[in-house]
Amino acid sequence: MKITAIKTAASLGHGMHLWVKIETDEGISGLGECVHGETQAIAIIHHLRKHLIGRDPMQIDALFEEMRRRHVFEGGFAGALITALTGIEIALWDLKGKALGAPIYALLGGKFRDKIRVYADCQIEPDMDRAEIQRVVDDVVERGFTALKIDLDIGAYSERRVSSVDPLFDRFNYTASEREHERMIELVDMVVQAAGKDVAVAADLHTRLDVASAIRLAKALEAYHLLWLEEPVPPENVAAMREVKRSTSTPLCAGENLYLRHGFRDLIVQQAVDIVMPDIPKCGGLSECRKIANLAELYYMPFAPHNVASPIGTMASSHVCASVPNFLVLEFHWLHRDYWTTITTDKVDIIEDGYITVSDRPGIGLELDETVAREHQYPGTTWFE
Ligand SMILES: [Mg+2]
Repeated sequence: MKITAIKTAASLGHGMHLWVKIETDEGISGLGECVHGETQAIAIIHHLRKHLIGRDPMQIDALFEEMRRRHVFEGGFAGALITALTGIEIALWDLKGKALGAPIYALLGGKFRDKIRVYADCQIEPDMDRAEIQRVVDDVVERGFTALKIDLDIGAYSERRVSSVDPLFDRFNYTASEREHERMIELVDMVVQAAGKDVAVAADLHTRLDVASAIRLAKALEAYHLLWLEEPVPPENVAAMREVKRSTSTPLCAGENLYLRHGFRDLIVQQAVDIVMPDIPKCGGLSECRKIANLAELYYMPFAPHNVASPIGTMASSHVCASVPNFLVLEFHWLHRDYWTTITTDKVDIIEDGYITVSDRPGIGLELDETVAREHQYPGTTWFE
């Protein structure tokens, strides 16, 4: 079998959802999705076509590594080049599964579980009162989720809202003011009480704090038994993250903007976090993230992938989550997007009572409804060209 064409299309969702379709001379094709690569990733995929057309699509890891090393001067360690390769890699896995008549998890070594626990990323604003927070949490709990995540950092909100919440706020300084520190604790208190004992709460700081502010907050939140506190300080300085981790029993989670095993190595080996969260359709794909999970597992560190993908990328990630022992929970970030259930040809919600049943169909196990996807076409992009 030989690759005959590689085509791209892009839809709007959480940023750009880039679809990669790979066709072969045997009539079998595969579809992948990658996120946060933006138009650079499209250009890179089109550039890579000349190296991939005519090649054997079954040699996935070797093709990935050959392309990565060939372009090591152009970003072979992190960024859009890796995301572009990720879209190709996931399409190749879908294709290989279809060619062999096997679901991807079976090709990754089989599954540790049939169902993937999912958490909902919630929209809780800084000035919501208890009753408003309760309504948001109740909606998520009624849908069957057993875990949710909130944005805790003030930097996630608009300038106008921010100045009403904290007049001392400086977007480029990492120190939490007294008012900001207390606001974060109060918000966690309201959400944890609204969620009750059976629903776990994670809180994302989006790298907002300096080490001292992060340590103070993480210690103050210990009694709430958060599922995790996410990226309290920027993740690129592993020593700083480790300082925070060693100061507190609140579990820390990081990694949504790191790439490849190389990007995660120090974070894991130095045990600078408690939980790792690679974004599978962005940071290297299915083989690479399975290896990241396996490395984390050596340190008894759970694997809780970041995820903003459509049902296609989410199901692709689910195959990896099924195939590793240390999977904890997978993110769902399309709560307020009504085409979550219509963008695939099945027209069903793959999340049922807070869990995804891993598909037993060949490949990823879902097909894109291109008509619906095109209704949300990313401006200025071409459609499967
Ligand atoms: Mg985050």
